[in-house]
Amino acid sequence: MTIGRIVMYVFAAMLAGVTIGLLKSWPAPAPPQHQDVAQPQVPPVVASISVRTSPPSSTPPPSSSAAVAAQAARRPGPELPPGEPVRSQGEGWWRTVAGTTAQVGAGRVRTYSVEVEQGVVPPQAQQPFAAAVDQVLADPRGWIASGDVAFRRVDVAQPDVRIRLTATETARATCGFALPYDTSCYLNGVVYVSAPRWFRGAESFAGDLAGYRKYLINHEIGHFLGHGHEPCPANGAPAPVMMQQTFSVSNDELAAITATAPQGLRIPRDGKTCVANPWPHPEVAR
Ligand SMILES: [Zn+2]
Repeated sequence: MTIGRIVMYVFAAMLAGVTIGLLKSWPAPAPPQHQDVAQPQVPPVVASISVRTSPPSSTPPPSSSAAVAAQAARRPGPELPPGEPVRSQGEGWWRTVAGTTAQVGAGRVRTYSVEVEQGVVPPQAQQPFAAAVDQVLADPRGWIASGDVAFRRVDVAQPDVRIRLTATETARATCGFALPYDTSCYLNGVVYVSAPRWFRGAESFAGDLAGYRKYLINHEIGHFLGHGHEPCPANGAPAPVMMQQTFSVSNDELAAITATAPQGLRIPRDGKTCVANPWPHPEVAR
């Protein structure tokens, strides 16, 4: 055997080794099928929205003793009422519900669109949602009562405000985790309607789901119009639509619930409790 042949054998053996190595590493190992399920994945949201990255609903309720005390007093609380399960995660994008309306009200016109996050509710639930929004904004007890505000729904045109039925996780990722309760919110020209609240309401409305839905839309559109939160002004009075009635119609309870996360005002602990009210202008007769 010549030295040249030995070199050739060694070279061939090396080549075979490299080939086997390559075959071992190809194809690349498949990634795990599921991400860590312990960390719920927050669906992506549209780019124009700032997303807080604090952890999702792992935040515990304010304190178990507070919850026990609230239950003992048998007062309506800030928790979501029992009912049909509603999907907590959506796809993070919204489809505009087709349809337009004539102008309602005589003031400056604000256009709105009604949109539904995909993956949250079935298609047949979308038109009823839009119809309910239209009805609330057209009501004579609504914001149009002032004479300064008018609304018109658009679908193709760019709206002034978008009203979006939204999954819990998307709404919370968008609006923050300051309060450990399901709630709707308004941010940068968009009303995020919490889907579980839309379908299950709030205890303060004592089973009046239709009334709660009217409140929800009026309250968040109130933010769009520039209104901040308000406390209950007098015992037994209709709660201002800008009171956070989702949590409570009692100033003391609202002050306790929002103590660690003030909501734009200091609620006086004055013992005043209002009656749930969905309208900005309840004094207007229908
Ligand atoms: Zn609010």
